[in-house]
Amino acid sequence: MSKNQINGNSKVYFDCNATAPILKDACQAALWSMERVYANPSSSHIAGAEAKLILEESRLQASKLLNVKSSEIYFTSGATEAIQISVLSVLNWIKEQSKKDVSFQKKKILISKTEHKAVYNSILHWKKILDLNIEIMQINVDDKGHVNLNEIKEYLNETVFLCTMAVNNETGLITNLKEIEKIIRSSASKVFWLVDCVQALGKLSLNFNELSVDYATFSGHKVHAPKGVGFLYLRDNAPQCSLIVGGGQERGIRAGTENHPGIAAFGVILEKLNKIKDGCIDFHFKSNHELLNYRKLLLNTLMEAFPTIEINTDMENSVATTLNFSVYGFSSKELMRVFDAAGVSLSGGSACNSKSLEYSHVLEAMNLPEWRKASAIRLSFGLTTSQEEIFLGIKNIQAAGKALRNSCLNLTCKISDESENQSENSLIHGITQLEYDSSNTWLISDINTKSCVIIDPTFESIDRLISFIKCKNLELQAVLDTHSHADHLSARSILLEKLSLKDTAFDPLGWNSQTCILNFNSSTWELERFETPGHTLDSVSYFLKNKCSIDEKIECVFIGDTVLIGGLGRTDFSISDNKLFYDTLRNLDNKLHANTVLCPAHDYNQSIVTTWGTEKRNNILLKKLFDPVNLMNEIDFFTEKKLIDSQLLETDIQGKLVCGTINNSVLTDKSLPIITIDDLDENIYDIIDIRENAESILFKDWKILNFKKAPKNIPLTKIVNFFNHVINNENKNKPIALLCSTGNRSLAIAKSLRRIGIKNVWSISGGLALTRLKYENSINY
Ligand code: PLP
Repeated sequence: MSKNQINGNSKVYFDCNATAPILKDACQAALWSMERVYANPSSSHIAGAEAKLILEESRLQASKLLNVKSSEIYFTSGATEAIQISVLSVLNWIKEQSKKDVSFQKKKILISKTEHKAVYNSILHWKKILDLNIEIMQINVDDKGHVNLNEIKEYLNETVFLCTMAVNNETGLITNLKEIEKIIRSSASKVFWLVDCVQALGKLSLNFNELSVDYATFSGHKVHAPKGVGFLYLRDNAPQCSLIVGGGQERGIRAGTENHPGIAAFGVILEKLNKIKDGCIDFHFKSNHELLNYRKLLLNTLMEAFPTIEINTDMENSVATTLNFSVYGFSSKELMRVFDAAGVSLSGGSACNSKSLEYSHVLEAMNLPEWRKASAIRLSFGLTTSQEEIFLGIKNIQAAGKALRNSCLNLTCKISDESENQSENSLIHGITQLEYDSSNTWLISDINTKSCVIIDPTFESIDRLISFIKCKNLELQAVLDTHSHADHLSARSILLEKLSLKDTAFDPLGWNSQTCILNFNSSTWELERFETPGHTLDSVSYFLKNKCSIDEKIECVFIGDTVLIGGLGRTDFSISDNKLFYDTLRNLDNKLHANTVLCPAHDYNQSIVTTWGTEKRNNILLKKLFDPVNLMNEIDFFTEKKLIDSQLLETDIQGKLVCGTINNSVLTDKSLPIITIDDLDENIYDIIDIRENAESILFKDWKILNFKKAPKNIPLTKIVNFFNHVINNENKNKPIALLCSTGNRSLAIAKSLRRIGIKNVWSISGGLALTRLKYENSINY
């Protein structure tokens, strides 16, 4: 089986705005350059002259396409470098002028808020390096992303440098360059104008004989040429400054031996675009009409597959190849994983780092509602995308939509009749952890009695909880908080209201049993309320007891902010009490055993859950408190706790209150618990797929990847049940190998299990991505 067969059968690539696949003809040109025309274009022998010819032919094609002189084209390593040269040239010119006593005090550099980061960061960088005192003004855009022309007009007389883009890389929006030109060229003062044309090449006609752009930047890998090649159009007479000096290549602007294979390949693409411009048909490149038709098909499919979709792209004013959208109820990350599992590669509009959510600056500038920013996805196909790929994409998108609907986490959830989900019950039964921005919401559901309880609901989890409860026909028995919050109200009442349920609780935290036991109609578990004041005066913990075990063992404790993973809840609020906190920790120790799983209200360092024994071993203050040799007295505890709290940040970078200390150094096992796919024996290891169920059921390539059968699926959101099982059966377990799409999520779980003392657990390095790559390599070489 060939590499293409695998890719062609199941996967479709819709991330061409990031990098487009390289056209075969371009590959061949690069190969020819490497195998046959490999001489240095600066050498004076015939071989060198041949290489130079190819270089100049590519330059000629670029100049022809833009209707400019070939001497105005400079090859670079890509658009980012071309942007640096433009910015450095203008800023250096400003510096030179300042030396001649020209004042730039009131002058401005204008840049649209939706420019690629390369432009803004480059301006900041060179301004700092050149020590310039000139204001950078970011121009606002409207909710569709169009730059505010009035702002350009307003600042026109003070503007020296204007940076705009022809097409936005995230939304596909086309900028009306003619309108901007009209404005800036109406001024008596000279404005240097940079237009980032990376996403416009091949999609819009660009004629710089009729548009007074001074600098324009282009990149090969966005138009089916390789990475590492691009070019700059630099208008004659516009300021120029060398970025790299050396052997004088590219007329001294960008020295260094040229990337000849890359330029040769780019030349082939430029030549094709010129032919199309001249009216010829190229069978590889689709016409705009065809591309628009593709977009329509994809849009219709998306609307059907995801009924809560909102389109972020201004369809009337965009290139045909980009579709930016959001699906209510899902984060970009969740959607991307499901698309990935369904065989559709696309891009998330927001990035999530370990501590916070970072939204796209483009969508931020458009001032979209929070959920649309958090859920944004960019689908981008290329100029050479085939109809077969579009049809495969449609099939895979439909499958992704169905899987999400069946997962019941979709807000328009409907279990389809032909549900492929065999293990649905196991997905409902037990503890589910929903995490948003380091805050945990816990759901305990009993499939036998269809009853459930929610603990510590966050506002972000409300819609998802409601969808799950309704979809699975669960009866909500109680909504509990572990404490009142210092900075906000509980989400409890809104949740109940949205479910049209009456609040029957006896206390403000939602407890609705007259005793300290809540038998929430479950045949398996009961909850015991246990007062744990300290972090706040009203803090309580809820013990989850298994009614079937002889000693009614506490399996888990929902411990709120009293004990965090690697830390303790802060006790410096006006509603805190250090003395009570000291007693609480001692009382807890009398109740809990080492293997009791702690489910806290926060998970600040992606450790998922912990155990009481682990915290007593690793948590510095707890360790001292329970040191059997040197028992810590109350006074010493207060002093140390006060010191720890005084070192706490009041709020995190998003302005949210930090609820306790986290000491990462307590993560004892520093070695990476990873195993490569080559070392994995299915007979020896218990392989567990920890992706969410929707991802798992979409994946069909197990046999192709040499797995005898699909591994057991325990989604990350249900992994706490697995922790519970593993910790109590440690010696009976086979070694465990965890699998996800890229190896990140499985590594977090493996580390967490190691942290609680499970030695024989591993994350499969590189996940399914690496497994697939290795397999494809093995059949190709
Ligand atoms: N400008 C835009 C609009 C882009 O989309 C990109 C690539 O993401 C760049 C600039 C940077 O291009 P390169 O990767 O060639 O440096």
